[in-house]
Amino acid sequence: MSSPVAPLIEIFSSIQGEGIWVGCRQIFLRFAGCNLACSYCDTPRNTPRHCRWEARPGSREFILLPNPLTPQEVALKIRKLNPAIHHSISLTGGEPLLHTSFLLELIPLLKETRHGIYLETNGTLPDSLERILPLVDIIAMDIKLPGTANIEPCWQEHRAFLKLARGKYLFVKLVVDEDSKPEEIERALDLICSVGDIPLVIQPVTTPEGKTRLKPEKAITWQSRALERLTDVRVIPQTHKFLGHL
Ligand code: SF4
Repeated sequence: MSSPVAPLIEIFSSIQGEGIWVGCRQIFLRFAGCNLACSYCDTPRNTPRHCRWEARPGSREFILLPNPLTPQEVALKIRKLNPAIHHSISLTGGEPLLHTSFLLELIPLLKETRHGIYLETNGTLPDSLERILPLVDIIAMDIKLPGTANIEPCWQEHRAFLKLARGKYLFVKLVVDEDSKPEEIERALDLICSVGDIPLVIQPVTTPEGKTRLKPEKAITWQSRALERLTDVRVIPQTHKFLGHL
């Protein structure tokens, strides 16, 4: 049987700009395609004909690899980025869990970093997560506020996902802006607390220029509210945008 293939947007080494491991050096594997269509999404919707590979980190010089790619091709490109000096390999997107057959073949070829495999996911595909869970070390999971993302609610999917993911190093990310609905934020907190005392990152919507769409008073208010129920709650914007990193 032939290897599964996957469409990728880019492969590069850079600095994690979001969440509780912000600042860590990672290799990023950005998959094309997503099962959602959030209004604030900054990932192209169309599958590119080529995957960009930045062979020299930070150079902005890209080698174009024709899509789709095999796990063996991707593993080779990652090996050339020196995984041993990296915190982890970030599977990001798009939604990487749309490509579980590919990941089942790829991940066993990759385990060479300091902290393993870091999955960035929208947290809506629990069945797919279950398939690759033993191969993943860290999970950065979104809970989508339907009013902020302008999508249908995913509360059931998030609940099932959280229950599976809680056995890993897990944190939840909540993208909020000035108009996020208090009742949706409360519902997200209810959901997290029903599963455990999981670290939470409140992430203000950040423009490509690095400006956030959340006033300081609101950020403080939401953090206070969450800290009444959870131990570790941080407000962190998308820092890579104002640092100028990919
Ligand atoms: S889940 Fe992420 S990649 Fe998918 S549409 Fe929303 S922001 Fe974009």
